[in-house]
Amino acid sequence: MDLEQLRKTAAEVVVREDVKYLIGWKQGSYGYRVAPVFVEDASGAAELLFSPLCTANLATYLTLVEKTPLPRGQEADKRKVALLVKGCDSRAVTQLIVEHGINRDQVIVVGCPCPGVVDTEKLAEKYPEQGKPAEVEWNGENFVLLCDDKETELPRDQFLAEKCRLCRHPNPVISDITVGEPVEPWTLADDNGVEEIEGKNLEERQAYWEEQFSKCIRCYSCRNVCPLCYCQDCILDRLNPTWVNRAVNFSENTAFNIARAFHLAGRCIECGECERVCPANIPLGKLNRKMAREVRDKYGFEPGVDPEAEPFQASFKPDDPEDFIL
Ligand code: SF4
Ligand code: SF4
Ligand code: SF4
Repeated sequence: MDLEQLRKTAAEVVVREDVKYLIGWKQGSYGYRVAPVFVEDASGAAELLFSPLCTANLATYLTLVEKTPLPRGQEADKRKVALLVKGCDSRAVTQLIVEHGINRDQVIVVGCPCPGVVDTEKLAEKYPEQGKPAEVEWNGENFVLLCDDKETELPRDQFLAEKCRLCRHPNPVISDITVGEPVEPWTLADDNGVEEIEGKNLEERQAYWEEQFSKCIRCYSCRNVCPLCYCQDCILDRLNPTWVNRAVNFSENTAFNIARAFHLAGRCIECGECERVCPANIPLGKLNRKMAREVRDKYGFEPGVDPEAEPFQASFKPDDPEDFIL
């Protein structure tokens, strides 16, 4: 990725009168951290970064920031928001458009073809984070870690994030401006990470998920980071009626995690953010990918790839065979 080109493009976008700001990534304050940045003027574009550390899906801000209720008497700023996206992030934007969560003309999508990001946990395990920021760059097929004037080659098969191993859309599916050349989609891994669970019998599956969900501390980070979990009145917060009890135990944790998985069926775009931020290391991606595959196989629907699509959970075909109804 040519960073100069990215920064120049961003500077041209943010000076437009119809643009409020551009949301992108910048170097974090230490280790492998990368932070979101809201660029409001051309000089701010110099901070922008696009590297294998830019894992976060910034599409979350389209609803998180743009949909918060305004103080009484304050007029909404109707200018457009520009957003840097990787392939998976662009699917979140597309799905938000499909659901009318955002209007297409409210957002300027700046697409960054993506050769894959690193799993920062694996990276920190092998090369512990230091107080100062470190950089990682793409280097052909692999990554390279730049720290203390030293370059360390990071083999792709060891450090590529799980979601990227399974990525079907590394190039943005929509973009108004594309920065950089399209990347060649790679051969998908043979499995999608759920075969291990599907190979278990019912008792073994129960034991597996009991062990996983029992670790959940109900911090709701998975919900809060998810670009498609944007209901202002989330079922999990309701007290009357209380659909999911506040108690942190296996039963309520299961209700929470299963409810979320079903609410995301046909909507989750497999960006992996929920799993990345989970402090309990619960393999939420396995749950999401299982749902995604069922929807793909049974209904031929893949969310977040076609802005003209009907929302999966809100559409009905008059000739639906309905052969699941007894
Ligand atoms: S899932 Fe695809 S688009 Fe997203 S970070 Fe990985 S390779 Fe890039
Ligand atoms: S992020 Fe993990 S621990 Fe927190 S609520 Fe979600 S599943 Fe539970
Ligand atoms: S459920 Fe997880 S993987 Fe799916 S869109 Fe939300 S954050 Fe991304």
